[in-house]
Amino acid sequence: MSRIFLSPPEVGPEERQMILDAFDSNWIAPLGPDVDAFEAEFAEFVGVGHAVALSSGTAALHLALLLEGVGPGDEVLVPSFTFIATASPVCYVGAEPVFVDCAASTWTIDPDLVAAELEERARGGRLPKAVVTVDLYGQSADYDRLQASCLEYGVPLIEDAAEALGGTYRGRQTGSFGTTGIFSFNGNKIITTSGGGMMVTESAEVAERARYLATQARDPFPHYEHTVIGYNYRLSNLLAALGRAQLRGLASRVARRRRINHAYREALADLPGVEFMPVADYGEPNYWLTCITIDPELFGVDREDVRLALEEADIESRPTWKPLHLQPVFAGSRTVGGSVSAGIFERGLCLPSGSAMTSSEISSVTELVQRLSR
Ligand SMILES: *Cc1c(COP(=O)(O)O)cnc(C)c1O
Repeated sequence: MSRIFLSPPEVGPEERQMILDAFDSNWIAPLGPDVDAFEAEFAEFVGVGHAVALSSGTAALHLALLLEGVGPGDEVLVPSFTFIATASPVCYVGAEPVFVDCAASTWTIDPDLVAAELEERARGGRLPKAVVTVDLYGQSADYDRLQASCLEYGVPLIEDAAEALGGTYRGRQTGSFGTTGIFSFNGNKIITTSGGGMMVTESAEVAERARYLATQARDPFPHYEHTVIGYNYRLSNLLAALGRAQLRGLASRVARRRRINHAYREALADLPGVEFMPVADYGEPNYWLTCITIDPELFGVDREDVRLALEEADIESRPTWKPLHLQPVFAGSRTVGGSVSAGIFERGLCLPSGSAMTSSEISSVTELVQRLSR
C-alpha cells in the first residue's frame, strides 16, 4: 500500500506529449505559442474576454491588486477563512487586509457582513479600496449579493478562484464574477502546471497592462527602456503546454472529485457528530477537497485524533484553513466577526480528494474513520 495524499497532481500521456512537443518546437521561453493558446483556451472556458498566464496564483493576485490601484494606506476586505496567499499580496502592495468571517451555510465570505461593513464604512468615508472573495475548496461565494454590494459603493471585487476552476455559480464559471479573477495551477490544485496561475478579465487594457508588468515593464523600444518597476511573473511556454493538456482533462477531474465527495457522504454522513461542508444551492462546486467537521462530544474523538489515526495508516489529511485573523502574522488586524471560521477550524478536516483516487483508497479512509466513531 502506498501513501494516500491529500490532492496529488495527476498527469498522463497527453501531458507528456504536449510538453515534449513544446520542447521540440524550441520555445523554451517565458513566451511562445503554448502560452498564447493556453490563454485563449482558458478565457474561452471561463467565459471571459482575456486571460493572462502567470507564474503563480499569488502573482496573479498581486497584479490584480496593483491594477485596481490598491496601494500603501489602503484597506482591502478579505475573507478570514482562506489560505494566506489570499491576503499576502494585499501586504505586498502596502495595504492592510481587513478580515471578514464566513457564513456557516457556505463557508465562503458572509455577504451580510460585507454589506454591513461597506455601509458603515461609506458613512464614515473609509471605504476599502477593494473586496477580495474566495471560492473556497471549490465552492463559489454568493456573487449576486456580493456584486450588488460592491456595485452600490463602487468598490472593485477581485475573485480568488484559485481552488475553484470548473465550479459554477448560477450556471456560470467561477472566476468570472470579479472585475478581475485569479486561478492557481499549483501542484495540489484541480489542474496543475507544477506551478503557475492565471488572471482573467473582461478588459483588454487590464490584460495588456498585466502582461506588461509581468515581463519587467519593458517599454516598446529596441533597447531596454523602463518607466515603472515591473515583475518577472510570466508562465513559461513549457508549463503552458502542460496546462493546455490539463485543461482538456478538467471536466473528467471535476466529475471524479464529485464522485469521491459522494462516496465519502454515503459512508460518513450518518456517523454521529460528522458534518460535511454545506453545498450551496446556487451553484455546483468543483469538489476540489472534501471537508468534514467532527464534533468530539458526539463522535467520540476529536479532529486531531482522526487526523493522527489516518497519518498512522499513511493517509494524508489536513485541518481546514486556520482563519487568517488567528494567524500570528496578522495579530492585531481589523476583523469583522470571526467566530464562525474559528469554530470550523477547531473541528474541520480535509480528506484525501485527488482525482486519481481509487474506490479501495476511499474505503481505506472511510473504514478507518468509521472504526474511530462511537
Ligand atoms: C493556492 C491558493 C492561492 C495561491 O496560488 P499559488 O499558485 O500557490 O500562488 C491563492 N488563494 C487560494 C485560496 C489558494 O488556495
